[in-house]
Amino acid sequence: MKVGLIRCLQTEDMCPATTCFKVMNLKKLAFEGVEEDIEVIGVNTCGGCPGKKAVTRAAEMVKRGADTIVLASCITKGNPIGFACPHAEQMKAAIEKKIGESINLIDYTH
Ligand code: SF4
Repeated sequence: MKVGLIRCLQTEDMCPATTCFKVMNLKKLAFEGVEEDIEVIGVNTCGGCPGKKAVTRAAEMVKRGADTIVLASCITKGNPIGFACPHAEQMKAAIEKKIGESINLIDYTH
């Protein structure tokens, strides 16, 4: 699995994505049952509210080899402060539309 990870810009200064990388390394939670090696090909943010740049950034990561786009839990679950992105569903839908069905989209990490 070649992962392109997208995270919330607003969360950068309170979280260095430690748990996102940990669950990928340990194949836990969103990565439970993944049998192949997990390689992170890139990490980027949504670009800031309202998150439009996440769409082109996801597409760029696909161009650079990602077969799976992962939205970090800061976006969809609001980790670590319980404040989810108000644009998460729209962002997810726009990314899905842009990258197509051949690319897997995982909407959380932990
Ligand atoms: S759009 Fe959502 S994910 Fe992006 S910075 Fe704003 S709150 Fe965070």
